[in-house]
Amino acid sequence: MVKNIVILGAGFAGIRVARELSKKIHDKQYAIVLVDKADIHMYTPDLYEVASSFHKRITKTCLTRLRSTVAIPVRKIIAKRPIVFIHDEVVDIDPKNHQVKLKKEGKINYEILVVALGSVTNYCGIQGMEKNSFSMKNVKDALKINCELDQLVQKHQKEKKKLVITIGGGGACGVETAAELVGSLRKLEKKYNYPREKLIIRLIEGSDVLAGLKEKGTRCIKKRFQNLGMEVFMNTKILKVNKKNIVGTFVKLHCDGKMSHFFEMQNRAGKGVSDNNTSRRFGKTVREKGHFFELPVCSMNYDMLIWTGGVMVNPLIQKIFGEKNLKGAIQTNTFLQSVRFPSVFAAGDNAYVENSFHTGNRLPMLAQIALHEGTAIAKNIIRRIHGKSLLPYMPKEAICLIPIGGKDALFSFKKHVFTGAFFWWLRRLVSLKYYLEILPLKYAFHMWVRGAEIFTEND
Ligand SMILES: Cc1cc2nc3c(=O)[nH]c(=O)nc-3n(C[C@H](O)[C@H](O)[C@H](O)COP(=O)(O)OP(=O)(O)OC[C@H]3O[C@@H](n4cnc5c(N)ncnc54)[C@H](O)[C@@H]3O)c2cc1C
Repeated sequence: MVKNIVILGAGFAGIRVARELSKKIHDKQYAIVLVDKADIHMYTPDLYEVASSFHKRITKTCLTRLRSTVAIPVRKIIAKRPIVFIHDEVVDIDPKNHQVKLKKEGKINYEILVVALGSVTNYCGIQGMEKNSFSMKNVKDALKINCELDQLVQKHQKEKKKLVITIGGGGACGVETAAELVGSLRKLEKKYNYPREKLIIRLIEGSDVLAGLKEKGTRCIKKRFQNLGMEVFMNTKILKVNKKNIVGTFVKLHCDGKMSHFFEMQNRAGKGVSDNNTSRRFGKTVREKGHFFELPVCSMNYDMLIWTGGVMVNPLIQKIFGEKNLKGAIQTNTFLQSVRFPSVFAAGDNAYVENSFHTGNRLPMLAQIALHEGTAIAKNIIRRIHGKSLLPYMPKEAICLIPIGGKDALFSFKKHVFTGAFFWWLRRLVSLKYYLEILPLKYAFHMWVRGAEIFTEND
């Protein structure tokens, strides 16, 4: 009887495992089965470009073209390989009985299971955030943001009121999106003859770091944002989101690098709006020069809110395997197997793997980590099939290459931070390398060139 090696998720980890296995397994006793609810593999690192690219006229054709810069048909990736692709949604997993339940196809049995179902947007329990914001998790979200921006500016072109585009969350995704939106707005301002000073990009971050970088990297991004004319709020806690405003404790970063509380600034101008009830309940306590004090809560208007503030493990995985103390991720051993179910391997955003380098913290939820784990899992599955002992996974240090608007990117490794166009091109080359790994040569080049053409339109 044929034994199934079932891979759940055709994301970075799942595709890597499936392709590596298909190169090495020639035994007809085993079938490689890949399952995903989408029939595309999404290249998330360029989603920020999809959200911010500019079009003279938004048409169905141009949106389809834009979508194709990040959405790769799974059938193209697995063409001519012994991989069975099932386009269906996983609704349940029964690890005790080695079964997966699919929405349309019903139950399938497995000998070995690889769980790589990724993550979903985490609204961090902020009241009204999900309802009132645009998320940035997949290509649909990114296209929605792109269209909404154009419509927003167009809608107000007669009255020319001040429009504030707020990005909540200053992680890598928030930073690259905010920076690139500046270019997009510059184009829209010409398209709709809108005054430059009336289109504002505002970034709100809860901590005192940007893109998860240390002091030097954060300083570099702050400086860049100030040059781009963006408004940056750090150490700012969003408490509640209403239809038109955000309630929180806002700390504004000024051009001279100093910070001040937004409430004070607004009050000086006689416009302060304090939300006393929320203040009493949530006021954020901060420490400055050795003194603790409570920041007052106030509200800030927005016209469009994009939430890039967090992701969490797929709820299905949380429910079936998730460990509460590991934020719902699957506890793995050194071979990337589930500690509780050795026939199950976990990869990418679903796996809790400790960073054995310096900190003992969890490895970050990144595509590059998912790929690295995918390769290690494929090797171990093959060793297991051949009755060999499994190899321990050796985590690698993630490389940080963050686009910071136009053809500029920041590269950070250990204590070193560099910026410049070279790093932007390096990042484009990383995309090309990935496309060449998974796609036929011609398709990969076409995809890359199409992306470069579209993405540089607003630089
Ligand atoms: C906007 C954005 C930008 C990013 N930029 C970068 C970057 O620049 N560099 C970097 O290293 N990382 C980046 N990341 C993180 C990176 O995308 C993830 O860490 C990576 O995709 C995780 O890989 P994965 O294989 O675990 O999951 P994914 O790649 O998310 O794949 C999960 C797959 O599971 C499928 N799936 C989910 N639920 C079901 C279900 N119930 N049934 C069937 N299929 C299902 C999904 O359709 C998806 O195809 C970014 C993420 C986002 C959102």
